[in-house]
Amino acid sequence: MSEVAESHAQAVDAALAVAYPDAGCALEHRTPYQLLVATILSAQCTDARVNMVTPLLFGRYPGVAELARADSGELEEIIRSTGFFRAKAGSLIGMARAVMERHGGRIPETMEELTRLPGVGRKTANVILGTAFGQATGVVVDTHVARLSRRLGLTRHQDPVRIERDLIGLFPPESWILLSHRLIQHGRRLCQARRPRCPECFLNQICLKAGVAAAGAQPPQVPDQEV
Ligand code: SF4
Repeated sequence: MSEVAESHAQAVDAALAVAYPDAGCALEHRTPYQLLVATILSAQCTDARVNMVTPLLFGRYPGVAELARADSGELEEIIRSTGFFRAKAGSLIGMARAVMERHGGRIPETMEELTRLPGVGRKTANVILGTAFGQATGVVVDTHVARLSRRLGLTRHQDPVRIERDLIGLFPPESWILLSHRLIQHGRRLCQARRPRCPECFLNQICLKAGVAAAGAQPPQVPDQEV
């Protein structure tokens, strides 16, 4: 890891921290169970849509035990508007049954145990560990984090696992949880996928793709960030 890449990452981290001091998870939840359910539902769906569905869902299935006994047809109807509702219902019930059988109804607190649950990949596990349990095990790489990481020159990769590896190498563990929240907020507010608002962006003096992101141009060469 080069010093140039690390100092660039520090500058990005500091600017994001000033701009988004209160960034946090947009999925409404009160417990690790609720966050896990909401995160599974958020695949290919907006957080706002998930937040419309979860009050009814959590009222009907207040805990893992109730969800494990859910009728799949009834659950599908409740979550239909989040898309891919049959697959998500299967993941939710499968996850709840596995949590009951393997963990006595408690949401596990390790990456290995979480990623063995149906419907839970590394991104979802990172969300639960970071936001519900305060453990900086990795960096959540969703579509916003992936896009901004490339635009800001923090990675060259497309694959979330390799992007996360680059971010872990560039930022200290104490930054990992909030870094994701802040990049996601910046992606929603200014660095949108199709129309990044570079002229008004506070990162435009240090962003390697300022002004060219919308045109689809290739970013300037950046130091290799393989770790
Ligand atoms: S300068 Fe443009 S491309 Fe870079 S982070 Fe800001 S909005 Fe995104």
